[in-house]
Amino acid sequence: MTTHDVATTSPTAATFESLDPRTGSVIGVFADRSAAEVGDIVAEARDAGWWWAALSFSARGRLLAKWRRLILSRFEELATLVAAETGKPIADARIEVVLGVDHLHWAASNARRVLKRRHVAPGILMSNHSATTEYEPYGVIGVIGPWNYPVFTPMGSIAYALAAGNAVVLKPSEYTTAVGKWLVDTFAAAIGGGSDGSPLRLVTGMAAAGAALCAAGVDKVAFTGSQSTGRKVMATCAQRLTPVLMECGGKDALIVVADADLAAAADAAVWGALSNAGQTCVGVERIYVEASVADEFIDLIADQVKRLSVGAHAFADIGPITMPSQVEVIARHVADAVADGARTVVGGNDSVRAPYVEPVVLLDVPEHSNAVREETFGPVIIINRVATVQEAITRTNEDASSLGATVFSRRRGHQIARELKVGMVAINSILPYVAMPALPFGGVGGSGFGRIHGADGLREFARVKSVARKLMPPMLRPTSFTRPHWTVTALARLAKALYRW
Ligand code: NAD
Repeated sequence: MTTHDVATTSPTAATFESLDPRTGSVIGVFADRSAAEVGDIVAEARDAGWWWAALSFSARGRLLAKWRRLILSRFEELATLVAAETGKPIADARIEVVLGVDHLHWAASNARRVLKRRHVAPGILMSNHSATTEYEPYGVIGVIGPWNYPVFTPMGSIAYALAAGNAVVLKPSEYTTAVGKWLVDTFAAAIGGGSDGSPLRLVTGMAAAGAALCAAGVDKVAFTGSQSTGRKVMATCAQRLTPVLMECGGKDALIVVADADLAAAADAAVWGALSNAGQTCVGVERIYVEASVADEFIDLIADQVKRLSVGAHAFADIGPITMPSQVEVIARHVADAVADGARTVVGGNDSVRAPYVEPVVLLDVPEHSNAVREETFGPVIIINRVATVQEAITRTNEDASSLGATVFSRRRGHQIARELKVGMVAINSILPYVAMPALPFGGVGGSGFGRIHGADGLREFARVKSVARKLMPPMLRPTSFTRPHWTVTALARLAKALYRW
């Protein structure tokens, strides 16, 4: 543990606490790092990054595999910490750890294949050359994470950035700093040699520490969080032209076509909207169902939702809202929807009892209502009946900030997927892209840009370097002042011969 990682035991002006949202008990007390301290941590990461970048892909892969095995050997400890800091049911925390490990494995196993040096065709005009592209690490990547999936979400950047040869400075959410610290500490333990030499470093702190990380001369920032914070991150990074990867929130839709397996669609919709108490960036925030099957679909949803249990007990389906201020947003969205004329199928305004929100099912919420237009991030299901599939597609596309969308249809899934302006589409399945490490993950418009996961996710953390080498004298020598006078004419003739047709 370096001086920068120390979690003190008593709060002072420069510390903050992370709490168990179920009980209010203190999980940890952490230093709120100043801009100067953040700068020092980035400098330490840069120093430690040299040896990491100099390793071969397979040597890095072996060390990342050690980390994976250490995480798995302490699986229950991590899942319990995730459950304590977020409040989510332990089963959900275990799923999250499994997904995080899956991504770590994929990134480490595929980095060489994706990022190794490769030859590209030099083209006819430059056929006397060889050409290669290689993917070099940026240097130090600042990873700024949210609280809703404190293992899975940062791992989508950390594992891929490390596998590509970068050092990483992680700034976890102030709500889930203990989980972030656990990841950084176990990485240092897994690779051996103590944390001083570790290329994965920790910045603890509030919003200002995140802003300081953006301004500290890191070579790229991978941000996951809300759209409003994303704008601030981009503004700070713009000062140094620091590149950014943006993974923000969305208002993802689920479309139920009349030919769908309605039981499967309802089961998926309930999980997609209510797991993790609705606090999922790619969660189902609105549902469009063809009117001809709407009644049956709504009954299936209501039946399942009424059986869910909310609380802190071991078998609860829905835990508390992690971030206290989000309860007000959820309450406002439900109240606005009801005031705008929506019908409550399950729950309603009384369902909000901080820190818990009992699930709410709302029907026919006007599209102008805040509940349809803004990210709710709570256990609220919005079902809007549509006359046609085309209407569902149009409404889905009207919000230009979707990460993903889901379609349930026996015959029209691919056709509808092609028409949706989103980053990811699931057909007859719920959130499959989360658990497919090879599939790029990311949104469009306000939900962000760039991609985590998969080959694209590895390339996000590498700079392309192009190298061209002369192998033999050229037939023509147009780029020299000593060229024969007929050279450019001959070059033009060659181009016409090659490309005129
Ligand atoms: P947030 O934007 O409040 O905070 C995210 C992180 O940014 C935190 O670590 C915070 O301390 C830091 N931060 C705050 N102000 C900052 C600033 N000015 N400069 C730099 N960093 C700053 O988001 P949150 O409430 O932690 O997370 C929930 C949001 O994240 C939701 O909108 C959700 O949809 C989104 N999310 C997106 C994805 C994705 O993959 N696209 C995944 C998970 C969550």
